[in-house]
Amino acid sequence: MILNILFRYIIKPVREFIYPPVCFICNNRIEDESLRVCSLCWGSFKLVEPSDPTWKEIKAKFDEAKFIDDIISCYLFEKDGKLQDLIHQLKYQGIKSHGIKLGEMIGVKILLDNLFSNADFLIPVPLHKLKKRERGYNQAELICNGISNKTKIPVENTILERIKYTQTQTTLSLIERKENMQEAFILSHSRGDKVKGKRIILVDDVITTGATINSCAKTLLQHNAKSILAASIALAQ
Ligand SMILES: [Zn+2]
Repeated sequence: MILNILFRYIIKPVREFIYPPVCFICNNRIEDESLRVCSLCWGSFKLVEPSDPTWKEIKAKFDEAKFIDDIISCYLFEKDGKLQDLIHQLKYQGIKSHGIKLGEMIGVKILLDNLFSNADFLIPVPLHKLKKRERGYNQAELICNGISNKTKIPVENTILERIKYTQTQTTLSLIERKENMQEAFILSHSRGDKVKGKRIILVDDVITTGATINSCAKTLLQHNAKSILAASIALAQ
């Protein structure tokens, strides 16, 4: 109690006076350090609109593959933009709170959609266990936790496993990505029954070609999941 008061009224103000909190992206002053990113930076991210060509193209690819019934995404990923900085900090610099916050934003969108808000559980796209060990966490799991904070949809992060250790996909063509993702996921032994008859939302940070999400969805449908939806922070071309 005394320590709490000491922290809130003395240590924190003194620390903020000496090291004023700044936005993780633009370095401008922010009032409250727990926000991490200023409202100007948040406001600069380009929202996904149904009329946007990137959205239409990705939706058409999913419709053609027929594994995913629908997708929800908040932003359009712009190369060298501020959102790229934010996602980079989330994935490679250990700023886990970005994942929770972004997940909560997806959660708000999910609450407005009947199909998504009635899903049985969320599954983060898994990392290979070596990559997870190296990074220390799976960013998609953090995003799921944020979505769950808003929607109360439970997170299941031990059902799906990634068994292929793949290189980063950003330099590969669509066909190479598809091949790269073939047989990349399995259901963990003891948990196969868990997906039967369930409506599942697969969650990833950025969706580009959809190859990863489709590969996960295919594995879940082979084990009799009822339907698969996809959610991400951003869509990229
Ligand atoms: Zn900023």
